[in-house]
Amino acid sequence: MSGLRERFEAAFMPNYGVPPLALARGEGCRVWDTAGREYLDLIAGIAVSSLGHGHPALVEAVSAQVTTLAHTSNLFLHEPEVLLAERLLDLLGGGGRVFLANSGTEANECALKLAVKYGKANGRSYIVAAENGFHGRTMGALALTGKASIREPFGPFGIDVRFVPYGDADALKAAVGEDCAAVFLEPAQGEAGVVPPPDGYFAAVREICDATGALFVADEIQSAIGRTGTWFAFEHELGRAATPGPRSEERATREGVASRRPPAVARSVTMKHAKPDVLTLAKGLGGGLPIGACIAFGAHGELFAKGDHGSTFGGNPVCAAAALAVLTTIEKDGLLGNAVSVGEALAAGLGAVDHPLLAGVRGRGLWRAAVLTGPHAPAVEAAARDAGFLINALQPDALRMAPPLTLTAGQARSFTDAFPSILDAAASGKEG
Ligand SMILES: *Cc1c(COP(=O)(O)O)cnc(C)c1O
Repeated sequence: MSGLRERFEAAFMPNYGVPPLALARGEGCRVWDTAGREYLDLIAGIAVSSLGHGHPALVEAVSAQVTTLAHTSNLFLHEPEVLLAERLLDLLGGGGRVFLANSGTEANECALKLAVKYGKANGRSYIVAAENGFHGRTMGALALTGKASIREPFGPFGIDVRFVPYGDADALKAAVGEDCAAVFLEPAQGEAGVVPPPDGYFAAVREICDATGALFVADEIQSAIGRTGTWFAFEHELGRAATPGPRSEERATREGVASRRPPAVARSVTMKHAKPDVLTLAKGLGGGLPIGACIAFGAHGELFAKGDHGSTFGGNPVCAAAALAVLTTIEKDGLLGNAVSVGEALAAGLGAVDHPLLAGVRGRGLWRAAVLTGPHAPAVEAAARDAGFLINALQPDALRMAPPLTLTAGQARSFTDAFPSILDAAASGKEG
């Protein structure tokens, strides 16, 4: 493996820079680098490896499917994609239609095309999104991305997108009129630093969209599939976030996995206050295999006519089987409850650290940011790595933790116990 970083640098475009570590393998929440050093993985490939590494359910589902039938294209349908679409709709209370893609940005491209089609049919000419929001890197998703430094070098995009401050319902109300086609928002801004909106924001978003007829598109690419302790982060707006763990565990053991059919009608009624018209998913859905989904509810699910959209690989049997294994395992193993309890332990442990570099902790479930008092995140990330923990400096002053949903309380504790000395090492400048 010698010189792998140098060879990477020579062979790849310079868009990523050269990552600090070459990983060789993983097991559960642990990974090993090419030199054989072990790390606790608290970032999970950016909130993707929801079951950790090498989970037997994922390995078995993917291996069996790749052996049986790996690809069909959309010239033919197959059972795993149908089961997955049905399962996602069940979790959402039904009443929707699904499109399967390969990534987050593609899920948003689908949502954007729905919004444009809806806009053209109804004289709605522009879209509203949030400052500092992140929706992906393809040209359409990039047009929606609120961070000017990554958007503007590639504009203009030919789509009228207006940006409002995130979390400000009055600003949104002022920006969304009768000729607005859609509002794209993250339930909490991930790449901006795991920044949650004020309580009640999404109920206000829902109201504004209802009043004007603009589509409410929730980009749950990072926040869904158990990351915050509920299947979808928008569910928190309903005030049910305090009890999802016990409920889901109880249901999983009582009814088993395969037989579980959620009470669709009751669920959709309780969700209505913040339920989006269009929802996009990706990251944690495939547990490491590339899959994205765009789900549109009610009549919006029927906006596309035959031929309006497509993907050769989207929803291929292997990725669909992986996503089904992820959903089944989260249910069966009570991982929503685990995300709540271990996430709270992680936040409490970090919050109890008294250190001049640490300003606070924000986020929900197993999606947290440690906020620093200055631009020390790269130094702290490096010090954590030296101490055997992988975390992510996502802003100059914010570190992200988005570990596998299987993280144990003991593993979280091992990190929070080590955190003071990691901060000391970063402060002393040992790590630059
Ligand atoms: C990661 C992310 C995307 C883009 O997903 P890709 O799979 O990298 O294309 C879009 N929106 C949000 C909120 C994300 O976190």
